Amino acid sequence: MAGSPQNETPSFYSVLPATVRYCKGLSAQEKLLYSEITALTNKKGYCWATNNYFANLYRLSKETVSRQISKLVELGFITVTTESDIKIIQELKAKNMDGFGIGDKKCAWCGVRTIVLHPHHYPTPKSKGGIETIDICPNCHSEFHCRLRHIKLNLTIKEFEELMQEYDRIYMTEQ
Ligand SMILES: [Zn+2]
Ligand SMILES: [Zn+2]
Repeated sequence: MAGSPQNETPSFYSVLPATVRYCKGLSAQEKLLYSEITALTNKKGYCWATNNYFANLYRLSKETVSRQISKLVELGFITVTTESDIKIIQELKAKNMDGFGIGDKKCAWCGVRTIVLHPHHYPTPKSKGGIETIDICPNCHSEFHCRLRHIKLNLTIKEFEELMQEYDRIYMTEQ
C-alpha cells in the first residue's frame, strides 16, 4: 500500500461481497468498515490503516473502531497480524545502507543518506502518549508501520480474483 499511515490513499471504489453484505451478525457500520478496508487493500489483500485512521474517517471513537475490527476478526472476514517492533527495527538496521543515497541527512535506522527525514515517535508510540521522536527515512517509516499491523482480507483465492477483476473492470471503463 502506497502512502504513509497518516496519508492513506484508498481506491475510489470499495467492495462489499454478498457474504459480508448479508451477514446477520454485522451492523451497517461494520459492513461499511469492511468495505473501506477493501478500498485500502492492495493486490495482495493487505492493508495497514490504524484504528485511528478509521476513527477519524468516520468520526467514531478508537474504542468503537477497535470493537468493530474485533467483530470482523471474530466472524472470520479479516485477520489482523502484528509483528514485534524490535524484530522489525533489527531488520531495518541490518540493511546497513550507510554510504548509499544522496542528501545531508542520515536515517537513524538504516543509515541511508537522504534529503527528507520523518520524525517517528519512538520508543513510545504517539497513540500511547509518547513525545520522544527519532528521525528515520521515508522507506524505514512506511515499512515499519506497514509490518507492525496488517489487516488481511480473508477471502478465498477465487473471491479475491473476482474482487480484483471487479476493480479492473471499473477502472478500465472509467479511464
Ligand atoms: Zn531508513
Ligand atoms: Zn511513525
